Amino acid sequence: MKNNIAFIHILLGLMHCLTPIAYTQNHPQPKKILILSSNTGGGHRASALALQAAFAQSLPPTCEIQIVDFWVDLAQGQFVHMPKQYAFLAKHPWLWKLSYEVTRTRAGHFALKSYLNAFAHHSIRRAFEKIQPELIVSVHPLVNDISQRVLRKMYQKRPQDKPHYVTVVTDLGSAHPAWFHPEVDKTYVPSGRVFQDALQAGVAPEKIIQLGLPIRKAFWSVGMEQKAAKEHLGLDPHKALVLLIGGGDGVGNLSNTAKAIAAQLAGTPQATQTQLAVICGNNLTLRHRLQQHAWPLATTIHGFTHNLDEWMSAADILATKAGPGTIAESLIRGLPLLLTSFLPGQEKYNVDYVLQHGLGVFADRPQNIAQITSQWLQQPQQLQKMSERAREIARPRAALDIAQHILQAL
Ligand code: UDP
Repeated sequence: MKNNIAFIHILLGLMHCLTPIAYTQNHPQPKKILILSSNTGGGHRASALALQAAFAQSLPPTCEIQIVDFWVDLAQGQFVHMPKQYAFLAKHPWLWKLSYEVTRTRAGHFALKSYLNAFAHHSIRRAFEKIQPELIVSVHPLVNDISQRVLRKMYQKRPQDKPHYVTVVTDLGSAHPAWFHPEVDKTYVPSGRVFQDALQAGVAPEKIIQLGLPIRKAFWSVGMEQKAAKEHLGLDPHKALVLLIGGGDGVGNLSNTAKAIAAQLAGTPQATQTQLAVICGNNLTLRHRLQQHAWPLATTIHGFTHNLDEWMSAADILATKAGPGTIAESLIRGLPLLLTSFLPGQEKYNVDYVLQHGLGVFADRPQNIAQITSQWLQQPQQLQKMSERAREIARPRAALDIAQHILQAL
């Protein structure tokens, strides 16, 4: 009997280990997957990393899964400045709003597509010819039209060899029309609203799949227990943690917001029970400036951190710009959300998403943000409610589900 049970256990273990091999034996397996991303903000790269890890889980190690910065690595030329230009626009929201709204109009979108195609077509074609991917996954809005034009030309005479091309939309509340292209094989969307945007842009309904926003591997499993996470990060495990983030580029009014929160809590009984951590992302100037400040509250300042999953496990409240990646990650960790800014355009609807689902509030004046933080710290039941709502709608497995769906459709 014992032998039989041991045999069944070994069999089950083997089946578990062999699942990726069984998958690849029954389906044609891609040998080269190319993920088109760009470091414009931190969200596209975070989703690219999530999908890379998810594909790696289902495919043998011989499959090459390459992430490229479409503009810096492939388009090159004047396009290498694209990430810096994005960071500049993100720091000047009115300029971002102007470019977003202009390129959303029919004429503006046409002009944008024509410009990209005129100046990047040849370098993108050279890159695709060199890499020869069998599957292309785009996680960036601006790359889809030009990629489709290049592929259409490259495979004019043998369309059956055209690589499978899917778009995974990494915006949450709404999406710019550039995300969508009717010739793309599948478009994966994170929410009902983005599903509607895809339909409106002319994508056939059977090509739109709603499975969530792909989140990095560190978020797939239950995080560290809160006190343990605080200790692990060198924080006081007995004090509540207010975490302040401004996306990958450390944008939004982080400096004034952090100072207002610290000033509000200092001098109250909450001062001895609260600590503040500010993550400045790639914004080095802000980081140095905040590190020089004399903080009236226990405060730590950080640059780009690669363990935001741990910081989110440790936090009690997250105050952040309404970036889709940060929002989706915070839901997995069950964090009440205090949205402090948004990039006009696509991020405005992320605010609506958070408010409609009862996941948090929006306030953009530092003084209001500080008051809400102070009130929330005194209302653990309210925090608990938002935390439960967040966990209910979180999609920690989105990257795995999307990768599986893509591979099955090949
Ligand atoms: N991020 C990170 N470390 C940092 C700051 C940000 O890993 O120090 C990640 C964050 O976890 C999220 C992404 O960068 O996955 C930011 O994406 P989001 O869509 O929120 O904003 P974006 O930077 O794209 O505007």
